[in-house]
Amino acid sequence: IVSGRRVGKLFGDFRALTEVSIDVEEGEVVCIIGPSGSGKTTFLRCLNQLERIDEGALWLDGELLGWRLESDRLHPLPEAEIARQRRKTGMVFQRFNLFPHMTALQNITEGPVQVLREPRGQAEDRGRRLLSRVGLAEKASSYPKDLSGGQQQRVAIARALAMNPKVMLFDEPTSALDPELVGEVLSVMKDLARAGMTMVVVTHELGFAREVADRVVFMDQGRVVETGPAQQLMDDPQEERTRNFIRSVL
Ligand code: ATP
Repeated sequence: IVSGRRVGKLFGDFRALTEVSIDVEEGEVVCIIGPSGSGKTTFLRCLNQLERIDEGALWLDGELLGWRLESDRLHPLPEAEIARQRRKTGMVFQRFNLFPHMTALQNITEGPVQVLREPRGQAEDRGRRLLSRVGLAEKASSYPKDLSGGQQQRVAIARALAMNPKVMLFDEPTSALDPELVGEVLSVMKDLARAGMTMVVVTHELGFAREVADRVVFMDQGRVVETGPAQQLMDDPQEERTRNFIRSVL
């Protein structure tokens, strides 16, 4: 459902991604691991078109991202089309960026009502179901400032799910959390994975990657160094760099 082909990204003279090819099948959970600055976040941002790629191609749900092929030539897509493609992904960021002036439920229903034009009653019913799915049924009327970081992040996951994305993208969703709150967020992500959601997860949580991912991609210096089934890559990495990284983290 996701396919990156030799994706390259430059920031001025700085090369953030080089020939990154990553495939994700429907229902698969792929974790991207690697040292700080290896391009993991940049790749996710390219996938939901917060960044434009400079080389290669990205496909999502059968569509080329950002471009349209017409009379044998590529034309950049207009912003409205990019926004439509972006809605196929749900993104959960490092920092829970909920709307501070809205309750948990309003945060979840805002997108479906404003963007998908769903009737408010229907969006609220579904919003409440999503809140119970992330274990926060009783927090519908709470404002973000009255929720813990872990609870805010779970609302952020419910908010992304409310848009019915084809693929969920997670960018180090637990790295800004106090250690005791990490587990509740990972557990919601595990449930999602079990329910068959397609997920791309940038994470430092190697335990999570080993347990939940179908495949793990190890990146370093903007390149994919190694990719493989989660347990094989973690327990018996083929590349020296992967081995060193895993050893340094564990
Ligand atoms: P981390 O684990 O620290 O989040 P990462 O693997 O996600 O690291 P990226 O955030 O993708 O790494 O960054 C890759 C490289 O690209 C870094 O060296 C970063 O400084 C650089 N970079 C990212 N965004 C920009 C930008 N907008 N302008 C210039 N350089 C950037």
